[in-house]
Amino acid sequence: MYEFAVTPAVTQLRRPGVIITEVTEGSVGDELELCPADRIVKVNGRTVRDYLDFRFQTAGETELTFHVKKPDGQTIEIEFDRDEDEDLGLMFEQIIPRQCANECLFCFCKGNPEDARPSLFVRDEDIRLSFLYGNYTTLSSITEDEMKRIIEQRLSPQYVSVHATDLKTRAYLLGVDESRADISDKLERLLAADIELHAQVVLCPEINDGAILEKTLRDLAAHYPKVVSTAVVPVALTRYNTDERLTRVTPEFCRRTIYEVEKLQKEFRKTLGVTFAFLGDEIYIKAGAEIPSRRHYGNYPQIEDGVGMVRSFTNAFEKMLSEPPASVGVQKRGVKALANVRTNNAAIVPPQSQSNWPPAYAGGSDFGTLLTGEMFAPILREHIDRYNAQTGSRLTVLAVPNAYFGGDVSVAGLLTGQDLVAMKDKVVGDFVAIPTITIKSDEPIFLDGMTYDDLKRQFPVPVYDLDTNGLIEMLSK
Ligand code: SF4
Repeated sequence: MYEFAVTPAVTQLRRPGVIITEVTEGSVGDELELCPADRIVKVNGRTVRDYLDFRFQTAGETELTFHVKKPDGQTIEIEFDRDEDEDLGLMFEQIIPRQCANECLFCFCKGNPEDARPSLFVRDEDIRLSFLYGNYTTLSSITEDEMKRIIEQRLSPQYVSVHATDLKTRAYLLGVDESRADISDKLERLLAADIELHAQVVLCPEINDGAILEKTLRDLAAHYPKVVSTAVVPVALTRYNTDERLTRVTPEFCRRTIYEVEKLQKEFRKTLGVTFAFLGDEIYIKAGAEIPSRRHYGNYPQIEDGVGMVRSFTNAFEKMLSEPPASVGVQKRGVKALANVRTNNAAIVPPQSQSNWPPAYAGGSDFGTLLTGEMFAPILREHIDRYNAQTGSRLTVLAVPNAYFGGDVSVAGLLTGQDLVAMKDKVVGDFVAIPTITIKSDEPIFLDGMTYDDLKRQFPVPVYDLDTNGLIEMLSK
């Protein structure tokens, strides 16, 4: 849900083949006179269902035959040779996500305002996107074809929402019957085929916590290293999700969870050599507990699930403060390399604006406002205060309440355009920076449908967007 890396194009009909969106000038594709809107339907006689099939069927092949359907309906056959691994210079349409067949108690679709954009009600669950972008799937409605495809095309790792290994609890959480919820055979099959898995537990107080959580983590750890890691993230309920079966996460609940899981983490480090089960940053922040050390997170296997983001940012920030500006380079800090660990090299990633930090800042103005979610704001403010004291800059951090979703939603990634605009009279200085994660990656709009241009027009000062790498890069100039 709300995965901005891909666009749920629900209105498009699924047609065989994969559509070309761009052809690089002078490339093999260009020489073959392939054009945007051409659809490649077969490669070497094998049907192409999507971009992943195309990649799989062309990989390492030097003699290729394409069947291409032109926009006018004509199908042509193109035979050609290429050097091994020579790039074809083609870009393709995004994969259209498959929908889930669950009714999860905590599904974010149930937490949307009634008038939210239709795309916010899309329940995408797709093993291809799990491989490409690290999106979680429950595997509960995976077809035999998809199982075979994961194994044949080595779509590894897969990201699986397990929630509980106790079958009754899992079925209850997913809102499906036990036979559908039971994925034990599927997991065994994937693991036997050496497909790596990362697991997720959305922690719901009084449902899959306590002994159920301990059993889940132990069951999964028994499959380490094929099950590489498990993220335990707290359920976040908006003000619209009023299902009485769900209990909100409290600071006391977070403290208890940390206490219980820490014991298991110690045990896993002893027996497996890694922490294996990671708690989401939100749990530590809500509990008022210290964020674990860098070593705790290893290579941050679940950072895009909000696990270790704060530690990664804090360490990069500390390093920046301790280094003279001339030697500072965000690439050296390791943060950039960690930011997209779940996104596969094979993924189609829309070009993102890089280093979009305020020119005013570079030009000498160090007076501006940084907006972020309520959860991260106190952490960012503490760091920025130290930075201001050290450099004499005048940066202000403002926490933006999430009025659109309300409830427990306090992460920056779910802030909407109207939430950000509501802060316009409070910003100070020559510019305002908003979190890049609030903007859709392939289209400049926010979750509530407001366009980036609309938002910019409503602020009295220029608006820029920054991710944590961009922020550190800006501050180190
Ligand atoms: S798997 Fe569950 S949480 Fe995810 S989209 Fe489907 S119903 Fe919602």
